[in-house]
Amino acid sequence: MTYFERVLVANRGEIAIRVMRACREMGIETVAIYSEPDKHSLHVKYADESFLVGEAHPSKSYLNQERIIDIAKKSGAEAIHPGYGFLAENSGFAHRCDEEGLTFIGPSWKSIEAMGSKLGSKHMMEEAGVPVLPYTPDGVTTLDEAKRISADIGYPVIVKASAGGGGIGMQIVEDEAGLEEAIEKGMRIAASAFGDSTVFIEKYLVKPRHIEFQVLADQHGNRVHLYDRECSIQRRHQKLVEEAPCPIMTDELRERMAESALKVTEASGYYNAGTVEFLYANGEYYFMEMNTRLQVEHTVTEMVTGIDLVRQQIAVAAGEELSFAQDDITLNGHAIECRINAEDPLNNFQADPGKIVRYRSPGGPGIRVDSGIHMGYSIPPMYDSMISKLCGWGRTRTESIERMRRAIFEYVILGVKTTLPLHHAIMNNRHFIAGDTHTHFLQEEHVKEN
Ligand code: ADP
Repeated sequence: MTYFERVLVANRGEIAIRVMRACREMGIETVAIYSEPDKHSLHVKYADESFLVGEAHPSKSYLNQERIIDIAKKSGAEAIHPGYGFLAENSGFAHRCDEEGLTFIGPSWKSIEAMGSKLGSKHMMEEAGVPVLPYTPDGVTTLDEAKRISADIGYPVIVKASAGGGGIGMQIVEDEAGLEEAIEKGMRIAASAFGDSTVFIEKYLVKPRHIEFQVLADQHGNRVHLYDRECSIQRRHQKLVEEAPCPIMTDELRERMAESALKVTEASGYYNAGTVEFLYANGEYYFMEMNTRLQVEHTVTEMVTGIDLVRQQIAVAAGEELSFAQDDITLNGHAIECRINAEDPLNNFQADPGKIVRYRSPGGPGIRVDSGIHMGYSIPPMYDSMISKLCGWGRTRTESIERMRRAIFEYVILGVKTTLPLHHAIMNNRHFIAGDTHTHFLQEEHVKEN
């Protein structure tokens, strides 16, 4: 069955190729867009047809909505897959696609809009009976009120941008003396990064785990979850290592969290793939936010469930019903993903763009590599520093760690600094091996390059 004849992929790098792979398997032609520095990128070569979208700066290229819509129409594409980042969670763009008769491969623009506000989504979830951390329900209005509520909540607290993402603008506040400055700074960053200065205050958990559930729903009211992922190993509040399933998950906890995740999906009338993120500490979990897109770490879920999430996204967007029910989805083994970033892990993860002078990709049993790079490729400085995702599957968590260690040994990327040596250290860290991680793991363990 052909769902669409042609799909435009409004992204670059590994995720553009990931989406095109699914399209190719489904017999769907693909259209790539590329900015000037991406002219020779792999995603351009992979596509059936490609179009220059604009200059290097994202606002002129991968965020240039009208130009992308024009290219879609000119090329005869019927649908647009946004990948992650760029326009993936831009409700205005999803709405524009609707207006132009193009299918946006993702949730409805209304769901994106509703979930785009962390405050709004917390209200919605609280009403649906999903646990949330104590917070300022109206955001921060006056300093006096912020002080009063923070004292009630109890320090430390965290100031967050309601429209935030990518860990940007979050400020941890230890006591009342630091509150005013954190609010002002948070508002300033929020206004410039997201065009919306609304911030709110939430209880700060000192060493939580980040646990998330993958959900998938069709446009006919069927919804399932595809189990959990543990994403606690982070730098600057951004994930670096993810695994499925979460190593400390019990049947009882999974049942409760999955029920909450599906409640979130139902309460928001959500369809397509999505991720419900929770913080977990001391046996309790709290809804943090819903990401209304395909996640970077969808790969580990695919490895343990055998379900291709991009193919499912395309089928759902074409109006198909899910072809399986919850009971048909089983967990098989364990998978780990390491994000390979062109960054210096010994120098505060500073980006290290440049030319790759040697490249050899790992392989063998249980290994999956999703990357957009090759020998001689020049990593442009103006985009995401993540250049590859290395994933390993094993029948057990131990086997997946052993395979990751072996694949990290095989992986050769020379010419730029990468997070590979750090991943080697993490895969050999005794706390990681014991599954004993939290969101401050990297700071606390002082995991160094070996
Ligand atoms: P963003 O949308 O900017 O990525 P999130 O709300 O998803 O931000 O949070 C990202 C990370 O920040 C979490 O995984 C966690 O490590 C940390 N974090 C966020 N809120 C809290 C909190 N209330 N307490 C402790 N850590 C938090």
